[in-house]
Amino acid sequence: VIILGIETSCDETAVAIVKDGKEMIANVVSSQIESHKRFGGVVPEIASRHHVEQITLVIEEAMKEANMTFEDIDAIAVTEGPGLVGALLIGVNAAKALAFAHDKPLIGIHHIAGHIYANRFLTEFKFPLLALVVSGGHTELVYMREHGSFEVIGETRDDAVGEAYDKVARTLSLPYPGGPHIDRLAVDGSVTIDLPRAWLEKDSYDFSFSGLKSAVINTVHNAKQRGQHIKPEDLAASFQESVIDVLVTKTVRATKEYDVKQVLLAGGVAANKGLRARLQEEFEMLDEVDLIIPPLSLCTDNAAMIAAAGMIAYEKGKRSDLALNANSGLDIEQC
Ligand code: ATP
Ligand code: MG
Ligand code: FE
Repeated sequence: VIILGIETSCDETAVAIVKDGKEMIANVVSSQIESHKRFGGVVPEIASRHHVEQITLVIEEAMKEANMTFEDIDAIAVTEGPGLVGALLIGVNAAKALAFAHDKPLIGIHHIAGHIYANRFLTEFKFPLLALVVSGGHTELVYMREHGSFEVIGETRDDAVGEAYDKVARTLSLPYPGGPHIDRLAVDGSVTIDLPRAWLEKDSYDFSFSGLKSAVINTVHNAKQRGQHIKPEDLAASFQESVIDVLVTKTVRATKEYDVKQVLLAGGVAANKGLRARLQEEFEMLDEVDLIIPPLSLCTDNAAMIAAAGMIAYEKGKRSDLALNANSGLDIEQC
Protein backbone atom coordinates (compact mmCIF):
# COMPACT_ATOMS: atom_id res chain seq x y z
CA VAL A 1 0.00 0.00 0.00
CA ILE A 2 1.42 3.36 -1.02
CA ILE A 3 0.24 6.51 0.74
CA LEU A 4 0.97 10.10 -0.23
CA GLY A 5 1.03 12.31 2.86
CA ILE A 6 0.63 16.09 3.07
CA GLU A 7 1.48 18.27 6.08
CA THR A 8 0.95 22.06 6.28
CA SER A 9 -0.18 22.64 9.89
CA CYS A 10 2.45 25.23 10.78
CA ASP A 11 5.53 26.49 8.95
CA GLU A 12 6.64 23.43 7.00
CA THR A 13 5.16 22.56 3.61
CA ALA A 14 5.77 18.82 3.40
CA VAL A 15 4.85 15.95 1.11
CA ALA A 16 5.97 12.33 1.41
CA ILE A 17 5.32 8.98 -0.21
CA VAL A 18 5.48 5.96 2.07
CA LYS A 19 5.09 2.25 1.38
CA ASP A 20 3.30 0.04 3.92
CA GLY A 21 3.51 2.71 6.60
CA LYS A 22 7.20 2.27 7.25
CA GLU A 23 9.21 2.42 4.05
CA MET A 24 10.21 5.92 2.99
CA ILE A 25 10.03 6.42 -0.76
CA ALA A 26 10.08 10.23 -0.89
CA ASN A 27 10.17 12.85 1.85
CA VAL A 28 10.23 16.53 0.91
CA VAL A 29 10.10 19.31 3.51
CA SER A 30 10.11 22.99 2.58
CA SER A 31 10.69 25.08 5.68
CA GLN A 32 9.68 28.73 6.04
CA ILE A 33 11.69 29.40 9.17
CA GLU A 34 13.76 32.10 7.44
CA SER A 35 10.61 34.12 6.61
CA HIS A 36 9.33 34.04 10.20
CA LYS A 37 12.65 34.62 11.96
CA ARG A 38 12.58 38.40 11.88
CA PHE A 39 9.17 38.38 13.60
CA GLY A 40 10.43 36.07 16.35
CA GLY A 41 7.73 33.50 15.67
CA VAL A 42 5.36 32.09 13.07
CA VAL A 43 3.10 34.72 11.47
CA PRO A 44 -0.08 32.88 10.37
CA GLU A 45 -0.78 34.97 7.25
CA ILE A 46 2.79 34.59 6.01
CA ALA A 47 2.62 30.85 6.67
CA SER A 48 -0.54 30.45 4.59
CA ARG A 49 0.91 32.41 1.71
CA HIS A 50 4.09 30.33 1.67
CA HIS A 51 2.10 27.10 1.70
CA VAL A 52 0.08 28.30 -1.31
CA GLU A 53 3.29 29.12 -3.18
CA GLN A 54 5.05 25.90 -2.27
CA ILE A 55 2.47 23.12 -2.17
CA THR A 56 2.31 22.28 -5.89
CA LEU A 57 6.10 22.36 -6.22
CA VAL A 58 6.56 20.14 -3.18
CA ILE A 59 4.01 17.61 -4.45
CA GLU A 60 5.78 17.51 -7.83
CA GLU A 61 9.16 17.14 -6.20
CA ALA A 62 7.96 14.21 -4.05
CA MET A 63 6.48 12.44 -7.08
CA LYS A 64 9.73 12.97 -8.97
CA GLU A 65 11.83 11.74 -6.06
CA ALA A 66 9.64 8.62 -5.87
CA ASN A 67 9.70 8.22 -9.64
CA MET A 68 5.99 7.46 -9.53
CA THR A 69 2.72 8.55 -11.11
CA PHE A 70 -0.61 8.91 -9.33
CA GLU A 71 -1.54 5.46 -10.58
CA ASP A 72 0.93 4.08 -8.05
CA ILE A 73 -0.68 5.90 -5.12
CA ASP A 74 -3.38 4.11 -3.10
CA ALA A 75 -4.57 6.97 -0.90
CA ILE A 76 -3.95 10.59 0.08
CA ALA A 77 -3.45 11.34 3.80
CA VAL A 78 -3.44 14.91 5.06
CA THR A 79 -3.11 16.70 8.39
CA GLU A 80 -6.60 18.02 9.16
CA GLY A 81 -5.65 19.49 12.56
CA PRO A 82 -4.62 20.77 15.00
CA GLY A 83 -2.58 23.75 13.81
CA LEU A 84 -3.03 27.15 12.17
CA VAL A 85 -6.36 27.01 10.38
CA GLY A 86 -5.22 29.02 7.34
CA ALA A 87 -2.13 26.84 7.00
CA LEU A 88 -4.05 23.58 7.42
CA LEU A 89 -6.57 24.63 4.77
CA ILE A 90 -3.89 24.75 2.06
CA GLY A 91 -2.89 21.13 2.68
CA VAL A 92 -6.47 19.94 3.06
CA ASN A 93 -7.54 21.60 -0.19
CA ALA A 94 -4.52 20.26 -2.08
CA ALA A 95 -5.29 16.77 -0.79
CA LYS A 96 -8.96 17.07 -1.76
CA ALA A 97 -8.01 18.23 -5.25
CA LEU A 98 -5.63 15.27 -5.72
CA ALA A 99 -8.12 12.77 -4.32
CA PHE A 100 -10.86 14.10 -6.60
CA ALA A 101 -8.74 14.42 -9.74
CA HIS A 102 -7.16 10.96 -9.42
CA ASP A 103 -10.12 9.24 -7.77
CA LYS A 104 -8.19 8.19 -4.65
CA PRO A 105 -9.40 7.71 -1.07
CA LEU A 106 -8.82 10.74 1.19
CA ILE A 107 -7.86 10.33 4.85
CA GLY A 108 -7.69 13.14 7.42
CA ILE A 109 -4.94 12.66 10.02
CA HIS A 110 -4.32 14.21 13.44
CA HIS A 111 -0.95 16.00 13.47
CA ILE A 112 0.09 14.47 16.80
CA ALA A 113 -0.87 10.98 15.66
CA GLY A 114 1.60 11.73 12.87
CA HIS A 115 4.36 12.73 15.29
CA ILE A 116 3.82 9.44 17.17
CA TYR A 117 3.82 7.37 13.96
CA ALA A 118 7.19 8.84 12.95
CA ASN A 119 8.50 6.07 15.20
CA ARG A 120 7.08 3.39 12.88
CA PHE A 121 10.02 4.00 10.51
CA LEU A 122 12.24 2.63 13.28
CA THR A 123 10.26 -0.28 14.66
CA GLU A 124 6.98 -2.19 14.81
CA PHE A 125 4.78 -0.94 17.64
CA LYS A 126 4.36 -3.25 20.65
CA PHE A 127 1.21 -2.60 22.65
CA PRO A 128 0.38 -1.29 25.08
CA LEU A 129 2.74 1.60 24.60
CA LEU A 130 3.27 5.09 25.88
CA ALA A 131 4.25 8.11 23.77
CA LEU A 132 5.86 11.19 25.25
CA VAL A 133 4.81 13.98 22.89
CA VAL A 134 6.85 17.16 23.22
CA SER A 135 6.40 19.81 20.54
CA GLY A 136 5.74 23.46 19.84
CA GLY A 137 2.06 23.20 20.73
CA HIS A 138 1.76 20.00 22.74
CA THR A 139 3.18 18.29 25.79
CA GLU A 140 1.38 15.08 26.60
CA LEU A 141 1.64 11.46 27.59
CA VAL A 142 -0.42 9.31 25.25
CA TYR A 143 -1.34 5.70 26.05
CA MET A 144 -2.01 3.39 23.11
CA ARG A 145 -3.75 0.03 23.55
CA GLU A 146 -3.67 -0.70 19.82
CA HIS A 147 -3.01 1.01 16.47
CA GLY A 148 -5.03 4.18 16.02
CA SER A 149 -6.21 4.32 19.65
CA PHE A 150 -4.98 7.33 21.63
CA GLU A 151 -5.69 8.04 25.31
CA VAL A 152 -4.19 11.23 26.73
CA ILE A 153 -3.25 10.39 30.34
CA GLY A 154 -1.55 13.72 31.00
CA GLU A 155 -1.07 17.04 29.23
CA THR A 156 0.17 20.56 29.81
CA ARG A 157 -2.16 22.91 31.65
CA ASP A 158 -0.51 25.98 30.16
CA ASP A 159 2.54 26.29 27.89
CA ALA A 160 3.82 23.49 25.70
CA VAL A 161 7.43 22.62 26.33
CA GLY A 162 8.55 23.84 22.88
CA GLU A 163 6.77 27.11 23.51
CA ALA A 164 8.62 27.51 26.83
CA TYR A 165 11.95 26.82 25.05
CA ASP A 166 11.16 29.43 22.40
CA LYS A 167 10.15 32.08 24.98
CA VAL A 168 13.20 31.48 27.16
CA ALA A 169 15.37 31.72 24.03
CA ARG A 170 13.74 35.02 23.17
CA THR A 171 14.55 36.36 26.65
CA LEU A 172 18.18 35.47 25.93
CA SER A 173 17.91 37.23 22.52
CA LEU A 174 18.44 33.98 20.60
CA PRO A 175 16.89 33.55 17.14
CA TYR A 176 13.62 31.73 16.47
CA PRO A 177 13.03 28.84 16.89
CA GLY A 178 15.00 28.93 20.11
CA GLY A 179 14.80 25.29 21.20
CA PRO A 180 17.91 24.11 19.34
CA HIS A 181 19.91 27.17 20.53
CA ILE A 182 19.07 26.54 24.20
CA ASP A 183 19.95 22.88 23.69
CA ARG A 184 23.35 23.84 22.27
CA LEU A 185 24.09 26.40 25.01
CA ALA A 186 23.09 23.95 27.74
CA VAL A 187 25.93 21.60 26.75
CA ASP A 188 28.51 24.18 27.89
CA GLY A 189 26.63 25.33 30.99
CA SER A 190 26.32 24.12 34.57
CA VAL A 191 23.13 23.76 36.57
CA THR A 192 23.84 26.63 38.97
CA ILE A 193 20.50 28.47 39.03
CA ASP A 194 17.70 27.15 41.19
CA LEU A 195 14.52 26.97 39.10
CA PRO A 196 11.08 25.53 39.95
CA ARG A 197 9.70 22.17 38.86
CA ALA A 198 5.90 21.86 38.59
CA TRP A 199 5.08 18.35 39.82
CA LEU A 200 1.36 19.20 40.37
CA GLU A 201 -0.77 16.70 42.31
CA LYS A 202 1.04 13.59 43.45
CA ASP A 203 -0.65 11.19 41.02
CA SER A 204 -1.05 13.62 38.11
CA TYR A 205 0.59 13.12 34.72
CA ASP A 206 -0.19 16.69 33.72
CA PHE A 207 2.51 19.25 33.09
CA SER A 208 2.93 23.00 33.59
CA PHE A 209 5.77 25.10 32.21
CA SER A 210 4.55 28.69 32.53
CA GLY A 211 5.89 29.05 36.10
CA LEU A 212 9.31 27.86 35.02
CA LYS A 213 9.27 30.17 32.01
CA SER A 214 8.36 33.17 34.23
CA ALA A 215 11.08 32.24 36.72
CA VAL A 216 13.69 32.29 33.96
CA ILE A 217 12.45 35.64 32.64
CA ASN A 218 12.49 37.12 36.18
CA THR A 219 15.98 35.80 36.82
CA VAL A 220 17.26 37.51 33.67
CA HIS A 221 15.51 40.82 34.43
CA ASN A 222 16.57 40.91 38.08
CA ALA A 223 20.18 40.23 37.16
CA LYS A 224 20.08 43.01 34.57
CA GLN A 225 18.68 45.48 37.11
CA ARG A 226 21.37 44.63 39.63
CA GLY A 227 24.02 44.78 36.96
CA GLN A 228 24.92 41.14 37.58
CA HIS A 229 26.03 38.86 34.80
CA ILE A 230 24.45 35.46 34.37
CA LYS A 231 26.09 33.11 31.94
CA PRO A 232 23.47 32.23 29.29
CA GLU A 233 24.98 28.75 29.18
CA ASP A 234 24.21 28.24 32.88
CA LEU A 235 20.69 29.57 32.51
CA ALA A 236 20.07 27.29 29.54
CA ALA A 237 21.47 24.29 31.42
CA SER A 238 19.40 25.06 34.53
CA PHE A 239 16.20 25.57 32.53
CA GLN A 240 16.76 22.41 30.54
CA GLU A 241 17.45 20.42 33.70
CA SER A 242 14.10 21.52 35.20
CA VAL A 243 12.22 20.60 32.03
CA ILE A 244 13.89 17.22 31.61
CA ASP A 245 13.54 16.30 35.27
CA VAL A 246 9.75 16.62 35.15
CA LEU A 247 9.28 15.08 31.69
CA VAL A 248 11.45 12.05 32.41
CA THR A 249 10.24 11.41 35.96
CA LYS A 250 6.58 11.43 34.89
CA THR A 251 7.29 9.26 31.84
CA VAL A 252 9.09 6.65 33.95
CA ARG A 253 6.26 6.62 36.52
CA ALA A 254 3.62 6.17 33.80
CA THR A 255 5.69 3.44 32.13
CA LYS A 256 5.58 1.43 35.36
CA GLU A 257 1.98 2.17 36.29
CA TYR A 258 0.61 1.33 32.83
CA ASP A 259 3.03 -1.57 32.41
CA VAL A 260 3.80 -0.69 28.79
CA LYS A 261 6.10 -2.59 26.44
CA GLN A 262 7.40 0.42 24.53
CA VAL A 263 7.96 4.11 25.09
CA LEU A 264 8.07 6.35 22.02
CA LEU A 265 9.43 9.87 21.94
CA ALA A 266 7.67 12.27 19.55
CA GLY A 267 7.49 15.93 18.47
CA GLY A 268 9.98 18.68 17.71
CA VAL A 269 11.46 18.83 21.21
CA ALA A 270 12.33 15.13 20.84
CA ALA A 271 15.35 16.52 18.97
CA ASN A 272 16.68 17.80 22.31
CA LYS A 273 20.04 16.20 23.09
CA GLY A 274 19.65 16.50 26.86
CA LEU A 275 16.21 14.88 26.84
CA ARG A 276 17.33 12.04 24.57
CA ALA A 277 20.36 11.32 26.74
CA ARG A 278 18.45 11.34 30.03
CA LEU A 279 15.67 9.10 28.71
CA GLN A 280 18.26 6.64 27.41
CA GLU A 281 19.95 6.63 30.80
CA GLU A 282 16.72 6.02 32.73
CA PHE A 283 15.39 3.33 30.40
CA GLU A 284 18.64 1.39 30.49
CA MET A 285 17.54 0.38 33.98
CA LEU A 286 14.10 -0.75 32.72
CA ASP A 287 15.29 -3.42 30.34
CA GLU A 288 11.86 -4.99 29.79
CA VAL A 289 10.73 -1.73 28.11
CA ASP A 290 11.93 -0.62 24.66
CA LEU A 291 12.67 3.09 24.35
CA ILE A 292 12.35 4.36 20.78
CA ILE A 293 13.80 7.73 19.78
CA PRO A 294 13.41 8.97 16.19
CA PRO A 295 16.27 10.55 14.23
CA LEU A 296 16.20 14.37 14.23
CA SER A 297 14.71 14.62 10.73
CA LEU A 298 11.61 12.72 11.87
CA CYS A 299 11.14 14.72 15.11
CA THR A 300 10.20 18.06 13.55
CA ASP A 301 7.26 18.45 11.17
CA ASN A 302 7.30 16.28 8.06
CA ALA A 303 4.77 14.45 5.89
CA ALA A 304 6.31 10.97 6.14
CA MET A 305 4.84 10.73 9.63
CA ILE A 306 1.41 11.73 8.27
CA ALA A 307 1.63 9.05 5.57
CA ALA A 308 2.71 6.49 8.21
CA ALA A 309 -0.30 7.31 10.39
CA GLY A 310 -2.39 7.41 7.20
CA MET A 311 -1.46 3.80 6.44
CA ILE A 312 -2.94 2.59 9.74
CA ALA A 313 -6.09 4.66 9.23
CA TYR A 314 -6.34 3.30 5.67
CA GLU A 315 -6.15 -0.29 6.89
CA LYS A 316 -8.75 0.43 9.56
CA GLY A 317 -11.07 1.63 6.79
CA LYS A 318 -11.08 5.28 7.77
CA ARG A 319 -12.10 7.52 4.85
CA SER A 320 -12.80 11.24 4.72
CA ASP A 321 -15.07 12.74 2.10
CA LEU A 322 -14.58 15.85 0.01
CA ALA A 323 -16.29 17.89 2.72
CA LEU A 324 -13.17 17.38 4.88
CA ASN A 325 -12.32 20.64 6.61
CA ALA A 326 -9.36 21.96 8.57
CA ASN A 327 -9.95 21.68 12.32
CA SER A 328 -7.51 23.74 14.39
CA GLY A 329 -8.78 22.20 17.65
CA LEU A 330 -9.03 18.56 16.56
CA ASP A 331 -9.04 16.15 19.55
CA ILE A 332 -6.76 13.11 19.22
CA GLU A 333 -9.02 10.95 21.40
CA GLN A 334 -11.85 11.42 18.88
CA CYS A 335 -9.74 10.31 15.92
P1 ATP B 1 2.69 20.86 17.24
O1 ATP B 1 3.41 19.66 16.72
O2 ATP B 1 2.38 20.79 18.70
O3 ATP B 1 1.53 21.25 16.41
P2 ATP B 1 4.78 22.35 15.96
O4 ATP B 1 4.45 21.45 14.82
O5 ATP B 1 4.93 23.80 15.74
O6 ATP B 1 3.72 22.11 17.12
P3 ATP B 1 7.17 20.90 16.05
O7 ATP B 1 7.55 21.30 14.67
O8 ATP B 1 6.79 19.52 16.29
O9 ATP B 1 6.06 21.86 16.66
O10 ATP B 1 8.36 21.32 17.00
C1 ATP B 1 8.88 22.63 16.99
C2 ATP B 1 9.35 22.96 18.39
O11 ATP B 1 10.45 22.10 18.72
C3 ATP B 1 9.84 24.38 18.55
O12 ATP B 1 9.28 24.91 19.72
C4 ATP B 1 11.37 24.21 18.67
O13 ATP B 1 11.98 25.22 19.43
C5 ATP B 1 11.45 22.88 19.35
N1 ATP B 1 12.76 22.23 19.19
C6 ATP B 1 13.36 21.83 18.04
N2 ATP B 1 14.58 21.32 18.29
C7 ATP B 1 14.77 21.41 19.65
C8 ATP B 1 15.83 21.06 20.54
N3 ATP B 1 16.95 20.52 20.09
N4 ATP B 1 15.66 21.31 21.87
C9 ATP B 1 14.50 21.85 22.32
N5 ATP B 1 13.48 22.20 21.54
C10 ATP B 1 13.60 21.99 20.22
MG1 MG C 1 7.59 23.82 12.60
FE1 FE D 1 4.45 19.32 14.96
